[in-house]
Amino acid sequence: MPTTDRPNILFIMSDDHAFRAISAYGGGLNHTPNIDRLARDGLRHDACYVTNSICTPARAAILTGTYNHVNLVTTLDTHMDNRLPNVARHLRAGGYRTGMFGKWHLGEGPAHEPVGFDEWCVFPGQGDYFDPVMIDRDGPRTVPGYATDIVTDQCLDFIDRHGAQDKDQPFFLMCHHKAPHRHFQCHPRHRHLWQDEDLPIPENFDDDYSNRAAAAEAARMRVRRDMTYEDLGLVQPEGGAEVGELLWSEGRLRLIPDLAEGESIDLLCAESGEIFHFDDPAELARFKYQRYIKRYLRTVQAIDDSVGRLLDRLEETGQAENTLVIYTSDQGFFLGEHGWFDKRFMYEESLKAPFLVRHPAGITAGTTTRRIACNVDFAPTFLDYAGLPVPSYMQGNSLRPMFEDRLGEDWDDLAYHRYWMHNDIFHHAWAHYGVRDDRYKLIHWYNDDLGQLGARPNDAQPEWELFDCQEDPFEMQNLAKDPAHAEVFRRMLGKLDRRMADIGDVPEHDSGAVLAELGLA
Ligand code: CA
Repeated sequence: MPTTDRPNILFIMSDDHAFRAISAYGGGLNHTPNIDRLARDGLRHDACYVTNSICTPARAAILTGTYNHVNLVTTLDTHMDNRLPNVARHLRAGGYRTGMFGKWHLGEGPAHEPVGFDEWCVFPGQGDYFDPVMIDRDGPRTVPGYATDIVTDQCLDFIDRHGAQDKDQPFFLMCHHKAPHRHFQCHPRHRHLWQDEDLPIPENFDDDYSNRAAAAEAARMRVRRDMTYEDLGLVQPEGGAEVGELLWSEGRLRLIPDLAEGESIDLLCAESGEIFHFDDPAELARFKYQRYIKRYLRTVQAIDDSVGRLLDRLEETGQAENTLVIYTSDQGFFLGEHGWFDKRFMYEESLKAPFLVRHPAGITAGTTTRRIACNVDFAPTFLDYAGLPVPSYMQGNSLRPMFEDRLGEDWDDLAYHRYWMHNDIFHHAWAHYGVRDDRYKLIHWYNDDLGQLGARPNDAQPEWELFDCQEDPFEMQNLAKDPAHAEVFRRMLGKLDRRMADIGDVPEHDSGAVLAELGLA
């Protein structure tokens, strides 16, 4: 029998999978029986946060165990320098067989392609859902099939070749799904789901963004206004601005218009040929939400199938006991909360990633935790399980004591987030940073440069947001200027300053001036 020393590590990560879209999290939207197996047999983490809620920087944080100002992967356009150390290199040098399949999204070519992996095969950039191009050491090729199933097959093949047969050399396998990233394309086997029923709409779908930082109003991430025909599986009519605004000036995708009073629109469904007619703006907005959420959730379903196949294979080959299995996503996603899709912001739906972990030797089945973890902690966790030293450059801490319910008194329940991709051309999301503790969240919007759009977003001055996530879980009431929360503000500002100093990030704010302005100096 395999020993429980130096377990295999199977790290399954999807792209943009919201925790509410996993039934084990009680989202009330879908049924994910296979991902739920990890919650039943292991631990469901309820406070796992990302340090930058966007694909490329999140992946760099996971691989290097460092914050993005250290690994220099701050945006989608700053690819990882693969001369730097990463956790796969350490695991490989420490005797693990390492594999990486699926979405890499840290750049292509000799300077950016995966390193530290015995085997790898990845999509260029975002990758495609159907018949995707994949790159390995032999270069690019088209792989027929559906992306989620292809990546699963590659991982099963890796497990078959390096798993049970090779007990002296455990494996570290990163299974990185492209799904359910936009533009949402499900496998045909899941098209029938939710055809005859509607899904619940979040209470704050019609959020008017009052009493929030100006960034919330400025963001182009609204389901009712900022989704393309392609996003929702609708035929984009030929024509110009009357069809809809271009998603971006150099592309051809157009946004489905939001109706003004007295206007109407006919929308042609690409798959059924059905024509939908709307003359009521609220009705059109709800139609868009239903199209969006159903297309997103159908795409999730193949991931659940994938997790089932991987777990089954571990069981069939006698490796379930000796494999640490993690399921997570590179960040969260808005499923209509605040009227949004997408991520980027430090609000809870985007900041919090699903995280489920199973390791029968040490993790009690069916447990949950709300102790705060961050994705910079993943690399030290892998090394801890592998019995390897955590290098001093890594800034996270092993989560193994948290998983095994023996966390020390000194654990700092605080997550730091910084979004750098200021005012990008698609989403108009503004840069910000902040901290989240076990109850409160403090966000600073520094609004201080031009951003990608090349124009000042507006004349907004730097802003602060303070949320009581216990009393206001949907983050609708900014308490930053509430006199009753002045001491909370001061305390959270202190936590932010200490964390930024600790990790060496440079603040845009001057806490002395901030406190003086609030009369707290
Ligand atoms: Ca992502």
